Parts: sequence; C-alpha cells; structure tokens
Amino acid sequence: MAKIWAYKTAGIPDELFNQNDAVPGPTKEEIRIITICKARLSEGSVVIDVGCGTGGLTVEAALQVGLKGKVYAIDEDQAAIELTRSNVEKFGVQGSIIITRGKAPEALLGLPTADAFLIGGGGVSLRAILQTAFFKLKPNGRVVINAILLETATQSIAELKALGFKDIDIAHISVAKGKQINSGTMMMARNPITIVSASKA
Ligand code: SAH
Repeated sequence: MAKIWAYKTAGIPDELFNQNDAVPGPTKEEIRIITICKARLSEGSVVIDVGCGTGGLTVEAALQVGLKGKVYAIDEDQAAIELTRSNVEKFGVQGSIIITRGKAPEALLGLPTADAFLIGGGGVSLRAILQTAFFKLKPNGRVVINAILLETATQSIAELKALGFKDIDIAHISVAKGKQINSGTMMMARNPITIVSASKA
C-alpha cells in the first residue's frame, strides 16, 4: 500500500489526520514543523510526547526517529489514545510508537530516559512534568513546550530556569492561512502559539 506521507520533511497537512471533535489537535502543521525543529531529532532518538491528543506530533516524531527510535505517546484521555492509535496506523508508524493511557507526571515514571520531551498538555501538573522531564532526559536532551496560554509559557520559562536547563528559546508563532474569496485571497489568522524549548545541561 502506498504511504500516505512519503516525504522526509515534517508538516503533514492537517486534513490527512483522522480527527474527532472530542479530542484536541492535531497541532497545526506549521506549528508541528517548528516543534520538530526545536526537538532536534535524529534516527534512533527516543521521544516522549506528553498529551498526545490526536497524535499529530506523535506521528511526526515517529517519522523522524524511524524504526531504530521510539516515541512514547501518553494521554490521560481514552478518546485521545484511540484517536492517536488510529493515526499511527493510518501513517504506518506502529513500529516506532508505544501508546499509553495515563496522567503525567505519574505515567512518565516508568519510561526510559529520552532524547526529547514534547509537552502539549499538562495544565496544573506542568511544574511536576518539567521536573520529571529534567530527570528523564539524557545529557543535552531537549524539552519543547507548545503553549496556548501565556501563563503556560511564562511558567515554563521560570521552571526551566529553576531546573538549570540551558539555551532557553522562546518563539512566538503567528500563522495566517490564505482563504479564497470572490475578490481574491484573504488571510485568516490562527491562534498564536508560544514554543518554549531548552536543552538539559
Ligand atoms: N500535540 C497533539 C495535541 C495535544 S492536545 C496533536 O498534535 O494532536 C493536549 C492533550 O494533552 C489532550 O489530549 C489532553 O487530554 C492531554 N493532557 C493534558 N494534561 C495531561 C496530563 N497531565 N497527562 C496526560 N495527558 C494530558
């Protein structure tokens, strides 16, 4: 069967993912690209995706790390787990992914050390999740937080500093997409996202 995404580059079009109104995601394609860029992945990398939602970042990370790598996808919501599983199958990346239902940070404790943490969910547990990420990351491992809320971004920056992460980078991304209307192309704004990333010292 032909691969649904046969390219090396990240940025799978949003509409190729199975979606469900009850589950957030996928993270929009342009934001996924920058998230993967900030995670600095290689063939064989181990990635932990905290709050996998629709599985958008899970699938993108799996395509980067290949069969020599692993992506551990965690979500507390059963509908998200099922939707992620359906997308993992759709994109044929089952061989690189382990999907687990559970709440972070507790669900992270049994996982192996990782090269990168992708954090798209966490809410009130953000602090404990970042502490666990620091503990679980290999030296020079990467953490990438996609913040919709300003409070998540500022709290992430403060926690990363307190934990001793280095090279903290903050990128605030605003994407507008062209929509065809009768008189031409109208740019429609999407919600800005703040991507906070850093390396473990
Ligand atoms: N990056 C995803 C979308 C993430 S939406 C994609 O591309 O499809 C955020 C998800 O985080 C939600 O599904 C929510 O259930 C989950 N979540 C939030 N807090 C969590 C926690 N503490 N532990 C596990 N999952 C959590």
